[in-house]
Amino acid sequence: MINGKIIKGIGGFYYVDTENGLYECRARGIFRKDKITPLVGDRVAISVVDEENKKGVVEEINKRDTELVRPPIANVDKALIVFAIKNPAPNLSLLDRFIVLAEKENLEIVIVLTKADLDDGSILQEIQGIYELSGYKVIPVSNKTKLNIDKIKDELRGNVVVFAGPSGVGKSSLLNEIDKNFKLQTGEVSEKIKRGKHTTRHAELLKLECGGMVADTPGFSSLTLDDIGEVELKDYFIEFSDFNDCRFGSRCIHEKEPNCAVKEAVQNGDIPKKRYESYIQLLNEIRQGRRRY
Ligand code: GDP
Ligand code: ZN
Repeated sequence: MINGKIIKGIGGFYYVDTENGLYECRARGIFRKDKITPLVGDRVAISVVDEENKKGVVEEINKRDTELVRPPIANVDKALIVFAIKNPAPNLSLLDRFIVLAEKENLEIVIVLTKADLDDGSILQEIQGIYELSGYKVIPVSNKTKLNIDKIKDELRGNVVVFAGPSGVGKSSLLNEIDKNFKLQTGEVSEKIKRGKHTTRHAELLKLECGGMVADTPGFSSLTLDDIGEVELKDYFIEFSDFNDCRFGSRCIHEKEPNCAVKEAVQNGDIPKKRYESYIQLLNEIRQGRRRY
């Protein structure tokens, strides 16, 4: 048997990338009986049925580390959350929403700030400051001047990555810069949104020449917080965990409770005020059960 990774699934066939090349595989019947469906991203063992025509059978599926729903991919390591510093103007509350969803899925998070070439000297620094204080790695890039494209390649190498972020921020342009084999359409925002809606059940991993793989559709196409509980939300604002001596201990949701260490940290500037405001906003949204996206 040889080990590999499913990079595409179509009509009951799974395309498994191995060191001997790509095999078109059927899945063992036993999976169906056990109600296991092989997923793109699964690490599998296959037996080769026909070497000449590169056909095989998926015999074993390894335990999954993570399992994303949108796009449906197993074992994603990292989310690159992409926002532009300008055009479109960055909506930090939306950025925090992406972060919460990625934290919930247990993904490593890197924040990529595109269009750094449009910086007037303050926006980039402000946003970078907020998220670095929160404990995230922030990489400013420009697809125009090629700033830090090599750093993004370093983040991708050896990993399975999803790009996430709103339309128009430069995700496709960035992928085109990372790998010259890509020729993704850029700039046709409305066209792409429409396409995205029809392909939510489809997912494919694209191999990158720098090593690593990227999902062909952006992550978290649904941005509702429906699955997140009121008490759980604070766990996804990672900087709060540095301030855990609230009077009500772990029961404190850092809102109206007295002697709250998190609220003190916001006052002292140890937690960015913008992040705390996002937290309260998302908390209220969860309570109201609103569906805004
Ligand atoms: P996507 O919707 O996130 O995939 O964004 P696109 O890659 O389609 O880019 C949207 C628009 O932003 C296009 O007109 C790009 O030319 C432009 N753009 C992308 N990256 C940059 C950048 O780094 N700097 C500038 N100034 N424009 C960019
Ligand atoms: Zn508290």
